[in-house]
Amino acid sequence: MSPASPRRPLISGNWKMNFDHLEAIHAIRDLGLRIQPGDVQGVDVSIHPPFTDLRSAQTVLEAESIPVALGAQTCAAEDAGAFTGEISPVMLAKLHVTYVIVGHSERRTLFHESDETVAAKMKAVHRNGMTPICCVGESIDEREAGLTRDRLATQVGSAVRALPGDVVAGMVLAYEPIWAIGTGQAATPEDAQDACAWIRGVVADAVGEEVGAQVRIQYGGSVKAENTAELMACPDLDGLLVGGASLDASQFIEIVRASAHPGR
Ligand code: PEP
Repeated sequence: MSPASPRRPLISGNWKMNFDHLEAIHAIRDLGLRIQPGDVQGVDVSIHPPFTDLRSAQTVLEAESIPVALGAQTCAAEDAGAFTGEISPVMLAKLHVTYVIVGHSERRTLFHESDETVAAKMKAVHRNGMTPICCVGESIDEREAGLTRDRLATQVGSAVRALPGDVVAGMVLAYEPIWAIGTGQAATPEDAQDACAWIRGVVADAVGEEVGAQVRIQYGGSVKAENTAELMACPDLDGLLVGGASLDASQFIEIVRASAHPGR
């Protein structure tokens, strides 16, 4: 839609349920030793460790001035109260968490999070001064039935209606086709571009062309250093949500570097 738009790419590493807090310290130090100031000149980078790692991760990132933002993988929709086992967005904000992934397909599928739950979490993240990264994407059955665009329109529409229009411009959407996550079978650049352009159009229809042109849209699903440049060359794709490959600092930094230079 708007290839000339100055949207700054965001490369996010979703660690899922990997690395205890000692392993996290090691992994972040490893990343810190590899990352050069030039690597993040035109790109934002975030990592999303498990909750029990966040305090340690915050300490290392801040003490060693590593230019990587801290993220979480989900949060509660409420700020406080009788919600045994939940983690409040207030607590995340206190740890200087910048980005919170909301509605990852593993949360939607394994933990039965509905579009309504995702919308409530979007509000909670925004209310506490953080930026949601809202994941959307179709299953293989939906894709084969020709329902990809319908599924994306429903998920994106529900997510963006949760926030005031001007706030939507600053949020992040992540197109993550479920069939591409952890399978080694990434979407082709053509399919990723098609879906990201559709998502941008849904945002524009819901909250206006200007916001549609500003919102950042990541792609996620079997991203590796080798397929980064071709994906990042897609005009409506503004970053990557990386699972498996983000657990290896050397691979992750290669993805960050390849993201900065595909002619953007
Ligand atoms: C993810 O967890 O969001 C993801 C895209 O995983 P992977 O990169 O391993 O496919």
